[in-house]
Amino acid sequence: MKVLNLRCANGHGFEGWFGSEDDFLDQNGRAMIECPLCADRVVSRLPSAPRLNLSGAREPAPAPQPEAAAPAPTVSAVTASVSGMQPPDLQAAWLSGMRQLLARTEDVGLRFAEEARRMHYGEAPNRGIRGHASPEEREALLDEGIETVAIPVPRALDGPVQ
Ligand SMILES: [Zn+2]
Repeated sequence: MKVLNLRCANGHGFEGWFGSEDDFLDQNGRAMIECPLCADRVVSRLPSAPRLNLSGAREPAPAPQPEAAAPAPTVSAVTASVSGMQPPDLQAAWLSGMRQLLARTEDVGLRFAEEARRMHYGEAPNRGIRGHASPEEREALLDEGIETVAIPVPRALDGPVQ
């Protein structure tokens, strides 16, 4: 039994099982082989089976390994952060993102709820602010349609006022 990699005129790849190569040539010569996807009968044989080319000495196999392996680090990174065991580079990335956030927002300290309200009702210019708010204050803000995001900021990064 021989497994041959075949391709139709429309570019569909599929496998054909034959008793021998002559069988294939014979059947193909009489247009008896058709593409399982589009029933096209103009079938050509691919030069070799790349997935069986393990030695790699004779033919340069089209190696999909780099693309296939690429997503792996992302997956493990996500897993690592979820499990709370952050590798140093992840922690550094998080810290640098936090620094940017702090740089782009105005620290209003304990006046956070008050400032958020003033912005919401157009009494103060709309901008990114950060500060401290109790869970009760945040709930009250939410009742008024003002959404806030609670972010644990490491003390080392926060302003000297705190
Ligand atoms: Zn086809």
